[in-house]
Amino acid sequence: MPEVIVNLHMHTRYSDGSGNHRDIAGAGIAAGVDVVIVTDHNVLVDGFEGYYKEKNKKVLMLIGEEVHDQARDPQKNHLLVFGAGRELATYADSPQRLIDQVREAGGLAFIAHPDDPAAPVFKETDISWEDWSAQNYHGIELWNALSELKTVLPTKLHGAFYAFFPKLVATQPIPATIAKWDELLSTGAKVVAIGGSDAHALKMSMAGIHREIYPYEFHFRTVNTHVITPEPLSGEVNHDRKMIYEGMAAGHCFVGYDLPAPTRGFTFTAQGMEKNVSMGDEISAKNGVTLQAKLPDDNAEMRLLKDGIVIQTWKNKQSFAHITTEAGVYRVEAYRRYLGKQRGWIYSNPIYVR
Ligand SMILES: [Zn+2]
Ligand SMILES: [Zn+2]
Repeated sequence: MPEVIVNLHMHTRYSDGSGNHRDIAGAGIAAGVDVVIVTDHNVLVDGFEGYYKEKNKKVLMLIGEEVHDQARDPQKNHLLVFGAGRELATYADSPQRLIDQVREAGGLAFIAHPDDPAAPVFKETDISWEDWSAQNYHGIELWNALSELKTVLPTKLHGAFYAFFPKLVATQPIPATIAKWDELLSTGAKVVAIGGSDAHALKMSMAGIHREIYPYEFHFRTVNTHVITPEPLSGEVNHDRKMIYEGMAAGHCFVGYDLPAPTRGFTFTAQGMEKNVSMGDEISAKNGVTLQAKLPDDNAEMRLLKDGIVIQTWKNKQSFAHITTEAGVYRVEAYRRYLGKQRGWIYSNPIYVR
């Protein structure tokens, strides 16, 4: 099946990013992603969707928005909105009403950075999601590269260090967010996981040093959402937008940290008596199901989880097959060593064995 690499969740000068849409398109092409989804804060910016081309390369830019209630203190509950086609920031004061409006507009609603801790030395407040009574959203941003950065900034010196060595930051999604995802899945709900960069191309000035930390292009080489699609991108914007958003809504995707090694080519599927399914799909446990995963290479540790618990681990194996008759929510994680540390590499969406 074709696979489309999507980098999503980023900001331009229309909100608090430092670059413009052209910069983002250029960075997307340079990094080799297929799609970028721009999500400025509380504004749906018109007129930039489409294919951007340089020489023989191209990237599809889609425009969503990141909505939150700016009158709320602290400014929590950020929601990523994709494909709604109209401005919805007016509903920001009620997360549930906002989600309902996104659904009504045919869009997708994802909870942004569910856990986003404070970084007091940089005057960054905690902007985690609070309103867990909300329902009917499509999923959560399991891995947000910027929230993770905030977890490693006890002092300004740490900030300066990671500004110069950004490759050392990313280790894995915040563990509390993974635990929350498993908890949500345990209720029987389908909750799609996506990975976002939250790229701002921030400018930092400290002790006379001026530096753009986390340029867009760097972000686009790190945490991506890989969407499995029924056909390759056609080059026709409306067709491709629909196909990508349908894939994300169905959970036909995985989160890949592409910096240590490309995650393109990962698959997680299930074969039953009557049908074969992929991530995000349901299958009957009756008569047994064979779960199969395959990595792009074997230099990793693969874990199969059932209902949030690791039930089997494979080291340096490129694929596995696991036969089960037990209902449960099955998902795969892969880890590999990179720059002296074991790091999260791949987080699949679940297969729901019912
Ligand atoms: Zn946010
Ligand atoms: Zn953001």
